Amino acid sequence: MLISYGSDGMDGIDGMDRMDGISREEAYSIADDMAIDELMAKASLLRDSMRGKVVTYSRKVFIPLTYLCRDRCSYCTYRKEPSSADDIMLKPEHVLALAEQGKRMGCTEALLMTGERPEQRYSEVRQWLRARGYSSTIEYIADMSRFILERVGLLPHTNAGNLTLDEVEMLKEYNASIGLMLENVSARLMGNGMAHEHAPSKHPSLRLKTIENAGRVRVAFTTGLLIGIGESMEEVLDSLLAIRDMHARYKHIQEIIIQNFNPKPDTPMAHWARPSREYMLRVAALARLIMPSMNIQVPPNLNPKFDEFLDAGINDWGGISPLTIDHINPEAPWPSIDYVRSVTEARGFRLRARFPVYPEYISDGYLAGRVMEVINRMSDEYGLVRGY
Ligand code: SF4
Repeated sequence: MLISYGSDGMDGIDGMDRMDGISREEAYSIADDMAIDELMAKASLLRDSMRGKVVTYSRKVFIPLTYLCRDRCSYCTYRKEPSSADDIMLKPEHVLALAEQGKRMGCTEALLMTGERPEQRYSEVRQWLRARGYSSTIEYIADMSRFILERVGLLPHTNAGNLTLDEVEMLKEYNASIGLMLENVSARLMGNGMAHEHAPSKHPSLRLKTIENAGRVRVAFTTGLLIGIGESMEEVLDSLLAIRDMHARYKHIQEIIIQNFNPKPDTPMAHWARPSREYMLRVAALARLIMPSMNIQVPPNLNPKFDEFLDAGINDWGGISPLTIDHINPEAPWPSIDYVRSVTEARGFRLRARFPVYPEYISDGYLAGRVMEVINRMSDEYGLVRGY
C-alpha cells in the first residue's frame, strides 16, 4: 500500500506501522553478497510502492548558534575553540537577521545547530549564558526557536546533541522536529584511534536514549548513519535495525539520513578513505529493505552523482539552502535547487519542498499549537510547502 501525500494528512500515520522489512538474518545474508544491481532494483521498487514518485527536500537556512563543543570527534571541523570563534554564541539579533534573510529566499526551515553542551567544557560559555539569564545552551536554543517561530515565521529544527526528556519537552514547544545522528550503534568506535575516542557524547547508549526521549514526548525525529568512520557492514545493519526497533516502539522516526564521511584536512581522520560509491549505494538500498516505508535521505552535496541514489530507493534530499553553506561540510557546496529538480525529474520523479516535519507527522499529537499554526499558513493539501 502506497503512503500518499494524501488529503487528510493521516495516510502516513497508518503507513508508519508498516515497518516490517527484511529480517535481521536476511539483512546479514544479502548485505555483502547480493549483486548491487539486484539490491538497488529491489529497493527502488519498494520505494515506488511505499512512497510513490515524489522526492522531497527542505528549503532551509542553517543557523550555527555556537561552534563550541565539549567533544572532539576525529573527523570534525565544525567545532572551534573560544579563541578562534567570532563570538561565543550567535546573538539574538544575528539569529533573527539570518532567519529573516532565509524567509525572504523562500526557506521554511531554520536549522539550529550547536556543538554538544559547550557549557560543560568552557567557562566562557557559562558566563555568556548566565549574563543573559540562561542556565544551558539548550535553554538558549529554545528561546531562539521561539523568536524564529513567532517573529519570523520559520520552522525551527534543532540539532544540538543529546537531550534529556525535559529538554525535548522544552524544544517541542517551538520546534517542528528535532534531529540527532545515531551515526553508528557500535561502541567499538569509541575505542583507541577510532572516530569517537574523544567524544563521550557519541556513545550509542546516550544517542539511543535521546531518540527514545523524543519518542516518549512524541516529537518527529530525524536520525541517521555516518558511513565510512571505521564501521563494519554488520555494524551498519545493527544500527539500521536498532533504529527500526526504536521506531517500532514509538513510531516517531520520520527520516533516516545515510551520510558519507568526508575526510577533512587537519583532522585525525584526514587520511582516511571516503566510503566508496558502491558501499553508499548498498547501505541506502539496505536501509529501504529494512524499513520499507521510512523516508530515506542522502545529502546531494556530498555525492557527485547524487541522482543515482534514487535508483537505490531513497526519497529525500534533505535540507538544501539557497542562502547558507553546509557548516558541517563547508567544502561541499549545495547544488542549486534548479539542478536538483532537473536531475530528479530526469529520472521520472517529482521534486517537492517539505517542511522540517514530514507530512505524516503534521498532527496535534506531534506538534505544539503555535508550530501547527505556522505550518497551516504555508502548507498545501498534502502537507507540503505551498508553491514549491
Ligand atoms: S559532537 Fe559534533 S560538533 Fe562536537 S566534535 Fe563531534 S561532530 Fe564536532
